[in-house]
Amino acid sequence: AARRAVAVQSARSGGEASKASVPLVTVEALRKEFRLGPDRVLKAVQDVSFSIPRGQTFSIVGESGSGKSTTARMISRLETASAGRVLFDGVDITALSGEPLRRLRRRFQLVYQNPYSSLDPRMSIEDILCEPLRAFRLGSRAEQKAQAATLLDQVALPRDYLQRKPGALSGGQRQRIAIARALALKPDLLVLDEPVSALDVSVQDQILRLLGELQRDAGLTYLMISHDLAVVRQISHRVGVMQGGVMVEQGSRDEVFDHPRHAYTRELLAAIP
Ligand code: ADP
Ligand code: MG
Repeated sequence: AARRAVAVQSARSGGEASKASVPLVTVEALRKEFRLGPDRVLKAVQDVSFSIPRGQTFSIVGESGSGKSTTARMISRLETASAGRVLFDGVDITALSGEPLRRLRRRFQLVYQNPYSSLDPRMSIEDILCEPLRAFRLGSRAEQKAQAATLLDQVALPRDYLQRKPGALSGGQRQRIAIARALALKPDLLVLDEPVSALDVSVQDQILRLLGELQRDAGLTYLMISHDLAVVRQISHRVGVMQGGVMVEQGSRDEVFDHPRHAYTRELLAAIP
């Protein structure tokens, strides 16, 4: 048995080594134009490129309207790109449709700013957590319920919350449920669009710590969207700064925060209290 364990171990590390060389997400010259009128085109995202290594967090920071959410929505295939490519695990997903797109959707999940609007107030927490499993016909009803209880453990909420409804939870607890639901299908990537912006600073801190623990435990990769530099500083490996649809600077967290190269980044940093 010991020998087999060693064989499994080396096969696994070999696989991981070859996979680790390909970033989980690569974005190449992504562009989005919105036609606002017969002769008015808004360049919401202009030739944005970056990549996210497996198990890491890439954050996009910038003020409201700078194109952060549009970029996230194109990567998540909720919005069609005007130009450019998105590679997921080395595969071009820009033009996927049908069954391959449906399969891909299991591999990334979104968490938004306002969990209340995305959690059906009539459903119990248990049903909310079982729903993704039901949609993909994964497991029996009993297995789905057991999985819902495990998901609740993962986000550190007591199991008796299973019978509650979203209205009986605080904002931070609702965001924990939204994260638990996002984890139900065991995705590789979480796209977190302003996930803590609606929460008090002390609750923000708890959710960011939870996200950090989940990343370490499950090897999750995050694309984090935030207008808040303090949040980004806490959670990121790499950071991209967007201004008016352009990613004006990107680098490791310490590069961007300690040695900003672009005047706009310095301006943002100077505004932190
Ligand atoms: P952010 O998330 O950084 O606040 P967004 O990506 O939501 O910015 O928006 C970038 C720009 O694109 C904004 O000027 C916004 O008004 C515009 N925009 C976003 N979605 C649409 C849309 N569906 N139609 C027209 N304009 C849009
Ligand atoms: Mg946004």
